[in-house]
Amino acid sequence: MALKITNKCINCDMCEPECPNEAISMGFDTYEIDPTKCTECVGYYDHSTCQRVCPIQNAIIADPEHVETQEELLAKFQGIKASS
Ligand code: SF4
Ligand code: SF4
Repeated sequence: MALKITNKCINCDMCEPECPNEAISMGFDTYEIDPTKCTECVGYYDHSTCQRVCPIQNAIIADPEHVETQEELLAKFQGIKASS
């Protein structure tokens, strides 16, 4: 599933440059994740790199509205790569 940024985000800007899919951008109040681009870092890393660099607990969490299997995340990764 895609991840999402919660209102605990302090806009520290640590995550945005680390996302291999350019899925993170500044939103209205806090940074946001585009669920069409987030692959949970599948295809690049073993763990979600944005969660790894975020200094705030629970600022980046799994998005229950965008549940995806590993196979679906891999297909999304391949689709993003093919279009880039
Ligand atoms: Fe980007 Fe990976 Fe975070 Fe998804 S989990 S927003 S792909 S850094
Ligand atoms: Fe917000 Fe965490 Fe990203 Fe910093 S690293 S901008 S606190 S989500």
